[in-house]
Amino acid sequence: MTLDVDRIRKDFPILGTEMRGRPLTYLDSGASAQKPKAVIDAMSDFYSARYANIHRGVYQLSADATRDYEAVRGKVARFIGAKDEREIVFVRNATEAINLVARTWGEVNVGEGDEIVLTWMEHHANIVPWQMLADRKGATIRVAEIDDDGVLDVHHLASLLGPRTKLLAVTHVSNALGTINPVAELVALAKEHGVTTLVDGAQAVPHQPVDVDAIGADFYAFSGHKVFGPSGAGVLHGRYPLLDAMPPFLGGGDMIEVVSFDGTTFAPVPQKFEAGTPDIASVIGFGAAIDYLDGIGMDAIAAYEHELLEYATAGLDTVPGLRIVGRAKEKAAVLSFVLEDAHPHDIGTCLDGEGVAIRAGHHCAQPLMQRVGVPATARASLAFYNTREDIDRLVDALVKTAELFS
Ligand code: PMP
Repeated sequence: MTLDVDRIRKDFPILGTEMRGRPLTYLDSGASAQKPKAVIDAMSDFYSARYANIHRGVYQLSADATRDYEAVRGKVARFIGAKDEREIVFVRNATEAINLVARTWGEVNVGEGDEIVLTWMEHHANIVPWQMLADRKGATIRVAEIDDDGVLDVHHLASLLGPRTKLLAVTHVSNALGTINPVAELVALAKEHGVTTLVDGAQAVPHQPVDVDAIGADFYAFSGHKVFGPSGAGVLHGRYPLLDAMPPFLGGGDMIEVVSFDGTTFAPVPQKFEAGTPDIASVIGFGAAIDYLDGIGMDAIAAYEHELLEYATAGLDTVPGLRIVGRAKEKAAVLSFVLEDAHPHDIGTCLDGEGVAIRAGHHCAQPLMQRVGVPATARASLAFYNTREDIDRLVDALVKTAELFS
């Protein structure tokens, strides 16, 4: 499937700019994606002509802002296949979504001696909140193995699920390796053991169609800024009965029903989890991002990015001394690599000189770096606005870098 990428690139103002006197080659969408003009305009229009706080005002402007904000909830629900828009909780980002679950569901459902199962390829956002919970409760973290290609060992994961397991928290797509995990299968396995599930979808939602209903997880978390929306708006999808039974997260305005000094009752889901004034403009911008993606189609995006991944993999394999880290068959367009004799930060700096923006470091996945036996990698992460020319520039810059360090 082909996309009209030349036209698409014109929708992203920043892609027409230069870096270090060369056309910007942006290959760090895994960290945060660039924004189409539709998103920038939606936010600017909102601030220019339609801004007011939501949920409280009786005047027209506030009622309209409330309607626009709430309409995005419905859009998100449709976009990720959620059956009930009350299951969409707006948060700042995936990190906050996971912390919300750890601090609310975790607080009442995880106790001493219980176990939480993670995998070696988790982002810190899907490790640290569970470690903090385990420390508070006297619970234990168990970690499912991966193989040298970066593929999850499903048999090992299954062997960790037992009577003490309370939660399986697993990434849909690894930000450092690109591995796509069989999350529907993992959720089904967990369900057989009565284990609650959380899927970290931060790297999946921007790149492939996601159907939370088909996956069946209890919780699904992601960030709007990686889905071509603004920073400040993220999503926790939770199954309604769980959300309804959970205690609130933050307390304050907007999340209550009645407050008195004799006691307070809480608003229904999802308002119960949305205390205080949210990032209204970012949610509006995120809605525009979803409209924009709907206009292209996530199936077409996934197919295009897969072609680009194959092209990039073949290109990187021609660079002397380069080793790709993460070679799962089911893989998103993320290429982590190391270069003999060059530290990933040096690679990043050399590429920056050529106008090529990549990421270098541990990618907030230090346990994974230990597991694959490197302190850090360089990482190119692609999106549907990247082209074969971008990949050619990356490969040329890497060949130069390799020569410099040989
Ligand atoms: N999980 C994964 C897999 C990620 O890649 C990231 C961002 N790098 C996060 C969670 C955290 O996202 P955020 O910083 O937007 O909360």
